[in-house]
Amino acid sequence: MADEIPLSRPDITDLEIGLVNDVLRSERLSIGPMQERFEEMVAEASGCHHGVAVSSGTAGLHTVLTALGVGPGDEVITTPFSFIAPANAILYCGGTPVFADIEPGSLNMDPKKLEAAITPRTKAILAVETFGNPAHMDTYARIAASHEIPLIEDCCEALGSSLRGRRCGSFGRVGIFAFYPNKQITTGEGGMIVTDDERLATLCRSLRNQGRSGKPTPVHMHRGEGGQAGGVTAGSWLHHDRLGFNYRLSEVASAIGVGQMSRLDDIIERRQAVANHYMQRLIDEPQVIAPTVPEGAEMSWFVFVIRLDSSYTREERDRVIGGMRRHDVGCSDYFPCIHLQPHFQALGFEEGDAPVAESVSRRTIALPFYNDLTDHEVDFVVQTLRLMLSRENLNRG
Ligand SMILES: *Cc1c(COP(=O)(O)O)cnc(C)c1O
Repeated sequence: MADEIPLSRPDITDLEIGLVNDVLRSERLSIGPMQERFEEMVAEASGCHHGVAVSSGTAGLHTVLTALGVGPGDEVITTPFSFIAPANAILYCGGTPVFADIEPGSLNMDPKKLEAAITPRTKAILAVETFGNPAHMDTYARIAASHEIPLIEDCCEALGSSLRGRRCGSFGRVGIFAFYPNKQITTGEGGMIVTDDERLATLCRSLRNQGRSGKPTPVHMHRGEGGQAGGVTAGSWLHHDRLGFNYRLSEVASAIGVGQMSRLDDIIERRQAVANHYMQRLIDEPQVIAPTVPEGAEMSWFVFVIRLDSSYTREERDRVIGGMRRHDVGCSDYFPCIHLQPHFQALGFEEGDAPVAESVSRRTIALPFYNDLTDHEVDFVVQTLRLMLSRENLNRG
């Protein structure tokens, strides 16, 4: 029996451990120099002027939609085929999600369906680079500009991807990254808002920090009677300009992020090598549709998701996943459609609202994918997949 091959695995080295140690010895555990360094590194990597670190990708989405004024009565167009966070963030703000069906090649929103979904009530477009694929982002940006509505880029799965030389995070008015342990880089939990819009960045900084303005000195850092604590001047710790949240990222998490970001090029290279090996092994597997990379794109590979051909049913796909798990190969059904999750169905969404996304999501399988997945392990995963597919074919008679 082979050792278990998990779906995902973080890659933490002595560099990150050393930086975390430095923070723990510094007595500065929140709002400090590590957060600023991490913000600069992610902003630079995404081709944006400003980075605003937040406690998760979801917190970043909520902050951005709040900053852009999304509220009751506002429609926000988004994808039905993604992790659930972007659609949930629209609901947090009281907005109405409008799902534009996907295009079956890249699995991102179909630009024609996106444009057809625009109404006078459309407040923003919230686009996702699903599985890190930057396809159509430039087209979405053109559509958004011509209708004078902001494009928000949920680039949580696309750190390091680019399309025709433009880096993910920089297509829209604002982008949001996430650093949960299965992403290209991790801080345990964490996220980052990136933008060129200085006013928006300032507003997001305030919203993440309880609606405080400026660069307030944390109250625990105040010394003696001369401190500002208790004052009502802008920048004082107990003055709040607006309703905000506590979505700050700690110095410990930021230190992990600084270490991870300094290794980003190497991380992306290794993920590319794993993806290449999967592609080679799957090329002559007629029942399997491998992921595609659009022309002119660099893809940083968040996950490796294949699709069974359209003759396969959901039950067959689920049995293949179950069989692979029994052989200690971590697999998952990325992603069930968002609009068919119970709390969206309760809002009136139903089967048939996004037929392409529904058809695709019945047949996808996420295979194990992480930086140090070996060629040998990839071979074992593909062998196991073949075995499970041949069992299904025998069942069919
Ligand atoms: C991971 C992810 C998020 C949010 O991430 P968290 O940090 O877990 O809140 C948002 N959108 C997409 C598309 C993601 O993949």
